[in-house]
Amino acid sequence: KEFGEISLKDIDQIARTSFPLCMRHLFEKLREEHHLKHGGRMQLGLFLKGVGLKLDDALAFWKAEFAQKVGAERFDKEYAYNDYTPYSCQKIISSTPGVGDHHGCPYRHFSEENLRAALARMGVSSRTMEDVLDKVRNRHYQLACTLTFEAVHGSPCDTGINHPNQYFIDSQKILQS
Ligand code: SF4
Repeated sequence: KEFGEISLKDIDQIARTSFPLCMRHLFEKLREEHHLKHGGRMQLGLFLKGVGLKLDDALAFWKAEFAQKVGAERFDKEYAYNDYTPYSCQKIISSTPGVGDHHGCPYRHFSEENLRAALARMGVSSRTMEDVLDKVRNRHYQLACTLTFEAVHGSPCDTGINHPNQYFIDSQKILQS
């Protein structure tokens, strides 16, 4: 099976298994609050395009989520992201989310308490969690993400994580093999 495209009906399940924590967090917040501020819409929207969510499906997805808060017309204008490429880890890590923002890299921007809770929900064992937090304390955020990837997939990631879309592709390769 090709992993080049994902469809809307699979997206919740795929978010749980193959999204890196930064995108999983945005995705869950969007589902919960039916809204994301601009930084979050950009970070998640470009990622979803990059993972191959078909444009029609992407539009349907965003419209369904946003319909309660903003009109479809305004939404259409905002979804003019065509010329942008999905953000790399470096760009996400160096972003500066403000109050009420959900974008950024959780390894960098979450409190330790929130990070622990998020990792536990991903099924990371307490032993691995200490290794992850150790990387975080040393500001090796991408290594922390790589350790998480390896723990939840039970499989090595030799190149390390440097892009959320790479995380997704590597994950799908493992899960579909
Ligand atoms: Fe996302 Fe990269 Fe941070 Fe992992 S290291 S959570 S992929 S920004």
